[in-house]
Amino acid sequence: MKPDVLIVGAGMIGAACADALSACGMRVTIVERDAVGSGATAAGMGHLVAMDDNAAELALSSHSLALWKDLVEGQPRRHEYSRCGTIWVAADDEELEAARAKAATMSAHGLECGVIGAQEMYQLEPQLRPGLAGGLLVQGDGLVYPPKSARILLARAVARGATLVMGEVVTLEEGAVLLADGSRLGAGQIVLAAGTRCLALAPELPLRPKKGHVMITDRYPNFIRHQLVELGYIKSAHASDGESVAFNLQPRPTGQILIGSSRQFDTTDLEAEPSMMARMLKRAVEYAPALAGLNVLRCWTGLRAATPDGLPLIGPDLSRRNVWLATGHEGLGITTSLATAELLAAQMAGAKAGIDARPYLPNRFEAQGRAYG
Ligand SMILES: Cc1cc2nc3c(=O)[nH]c(=O)nc-3n(C[C@H](O)[C@H](O)[C@H](O)COP(=O)(O)OP(=O)(O)OC[C@H]3O[C@@H](n4cnc5c(N)ncnc54)[C@H](O)[C@@H]3O)c2cc1C
Repeated sequence: MKPDVLIVGAGMIGAACADALSACGMRVTIVERDAVGSGATAAGMGHLVAMDDNAAELALSSHSLALWKDLVEGQPRRHEYSRCGTIWVAADDEELEAARAKAATMSAHGLECGVIGAQEMYQLEPQLRPGLAGGLLVQGDGLVYPPKSARILLARAVARGATLVMGEVVTLEEGAVLLADGSRLGAGQIVLAAGTRCLALAPELPLRPKKGHVMITDRYPNFIRHQLVELGYIKSAHASDGESVAFNLQPRPTGQILIGSSRQFDTTDLEAEPSMMARMLKRAVEYAPALAGLNVLRCWTGLRAATPDGLPLIGPDLSRRNVWLATGHEGLGITTSLATAELLAAQMAGAKAGIDARPYLPNRFEAQGRAYG
């Protein structure tokens, strides 16, 4: 029998959608060309982080963090979850002022956070270089191992009767998809959750790949305890052109340290670039000098799917009947996956979600007269 919904892509977003849609009683098929939780999901740092660059981003990320809390509760080890919190590091008084503004916005939204002075910050994180101004500690942020979380969510969907098909979707048709092996799968509705590869199936979508590098060290337990991010990260994360790096360190539960982060537009070459790695390491050592003495084991890259306004596309495709979009999550798709799935499932079932769906609807680009084609 034809499924109610066919999802293209079993990354974090597709897996979360499979879970949410099957929980609504829909018959789900999910098609994956590579491995469950591959694509950007396998490349990401898995930082679950409240971001507040605009009201819509804060609403989506904070709602999703609440859903993550429920998901990981009782089985944190399966997700390799840690409630490490984030320290947004302020290099000078101007950045400390920005930290205060962030604290006010986040607290007003009910997030547990507070500005800390330099002394308190050094007690929490002695590896930070002297001379910093302080920071913003956001206690509720955490981290997971994204491919594992994707597999857990997909397994829940499969336990409700969902089907995983390994294969590559090469064409979208009305009410069906064509796979690379020539087979055709029909479905009532189709959800595009293929990350940057959505562009291969729907080239008119307002998406651009944004490449990122991540490095991982050997095990150094308690070298750092919180995710440490420079406040300048926000500028780097939202740059709409060129290349940028920012100090971003994560303490994995294994004792290893993830070193981020870089952003590059207009390349889909997944090769790790020594020049970019050198820039990232230089930045990281500027903030945490003792990093220079640690062993980096491996570096990898991934492609974030960026939209022009930095918000994801969650809702009906404008150009195809019965096709839905769940993509464009840029550097925040692990965090926002669960809220995305809830919003999509609510729209497809004609129900109400926990937050307003409008800021993420793909038709916002049409409404603003922007290019969506
Ligand atoms: C370096 C880096 C660091 C990041 N760090 C974080 C972080 O700390 N926190 C955070 O919240 N987010 C982070 N992100 C962003 C996050 O990883 C992504 O937003 C998220 O993984 C997107 O998930 P997705 O399922 O949409 O896409 P993907 O993970 O790319 O998954 C798409 C899936 O679809 C499959 N697919 C593609 N095309 C087809 C096809 N034609 N047929 C069948 N299957 C197909 C792919 O194989 C893949 O499995 C980071 C991203 C990068 C690159």
